[in-house]
Amino acid sequence: MEKRSWAEPYKIKMVELLKITTIEERKNAIKEAGFNTFLLKSDDVYIDLLTDSGCGAMSDKQWAAIMLGDESYAGSRNFYHMRDTISEYYSYKYTVPTHQGRGAENILSQILIKEGDYVPGNMYFTTTRLHQELAGATFVDVIIDEAHDASSEHPFKGNIDFNKLDKLVEEVGVERIPYICVATCVNMAGGQPLSMENMIQLRDWSNWHNIKVVHDMTRVAENAYFIQQREEGYGDATVKEIVYKLCSLTDAATMSSKKDAMVNIGGFLAMNDQEFYDKACGLVVIYEGLHTYGGMAGRDMEALAVGIKESVQDDHMRARVGQIEYLGQKLLDAGVPIVKPIGGHAVFLDARKILGHIPQEQYPAQALASAIYVESGVRSMERGIISAGRNKETGENYQPRLELVRLTIPRRVYTQAHMDVTVESVVQVMQHANQIKGLKFTYEPEVLRFFMGKFEEVE
Ligand SMILES: *Cc1c(COP(=O)(O)O)cnc(C)c1O
Repeated sequence: MEKRSWAEPYKIKMVELLKITTIEERKNAIKEAGFNTFLLKSDDVYIDLLTDSGCGAMSDKQWAAIMLGDESYAGSRNFYHMRDTISEYYSYKYTVPTHQGRGAENILSQILIKEGDYVPGNMYFTTTRLHQELAGATFVDVIIDEAHDASSEHPFKGNIDFNKLDKLVEEVGVERIPYICVATCVNMAGGQPLSMENMIQLRDWSNWHNIKVVHDMTRVAENAYFIQQREEGYGDATVKEIVYKLCSLTDAATMSSKKDAMVNIGGFLAMNDQEFYDKACGLVVIYEGLHTYGGMAGRDMEALAVGIKESVQDDHMRARVGQIEYLGQKLLDAGVPIVKPIGGHAVFLDARKILGHIPQEQYPAQALASAIYVESGVRSMERGIISAGRNKETGENYQPRLELVRLTIPRRVYTQAHMDVTVESVVQVMQHANQIKGLKFTYEPEVLRFFMGKFEEVE
């Protein structure tokens, strides 16, 4: 690969103008939003780093694909193009489209889980765990300990700890474990990859125990890029080859196409087993739509087929991850505590360190995200005790070691100058960190409370 510094392998053909607000307007906006950045109006946001989900910029080829939409109710040619692209790039033989990732999680969980089961995974994801619980299972975290340590520089913090898996088998027996959920580039750990060696070992382990491996492949291309950069033996492989190999070591996958695959909406459940596929077709028609569109328009399936191909290009991934490393490195240089190594889709600020005076029960990460918004109009989000939610049996708050604010970078949307402004705002907030107050709930939703919960300042 060329040794020059990364630069975007595209140029800008259309722009969306942004509104610049005043600090007074932002103070009012965050109060009205109950100190929850999810409840801000996007018109009041300058640089939107809330999520990388569905807000990427499609290419001219993807927009052209939109015009090729075949909106027939059944058997759209776009479905077949999407399905064949998924087989070619991701290895899975059968595909059931869904409106987004959680639609696939719902169908998967209903088919594979029985009441009283246990589903191990390399760290939880919010919607994934909820669907497992709704289907009657208990989630068990089997990620390596380093993943819970913001300062560990382990190159593959997404790895599975096989001692934890063995212990679970000993405790509950293989009959109670329908599948293992393995995520590539683990979101909640800070966008941290697992190694190919770990995935190969997982395949052997699950073959031995006859337990299925289900892949949360939302960020598989970012994971593949890290394997190419960090793992011995893969330096000469392409991202495309590594993506295929990762997928082919698993039995089935859920995908939120709004992330890696760069469409604004869509997802799928994919698998190799025909009986499983038949069951999924039976459920998708109830919850999503017919099995050849499942909640997606024909045009969106076509744009997805193109997005998959673009997402595995080496130069795309180099610029994608390069931009996040640029942001992370600048924050580190300015003395801001972040999760290391720098992740694949986001930089995570360590709110425990920045707001040491606020106890975790007063939601320091939520308070920090609000303060950053007020400072400059940069929108981020909490990934800490609020996102973790409550234990479904005891009703107690889960108390994750990681109490983070996520600055998530949409794909192909912002420039290096936007990253510079983001760093400036975080540094400015740190300078008056001791004046930031903790928060308490004024409205706590029962599930996924981080989306719609409201707060006020603790005086
Ligand atoms: C976003 C995401 C999901 C859920 O996908 P949606 O498209 O938002 O429903 C599942 N797993 C991971 C790792 C995600 O990041």
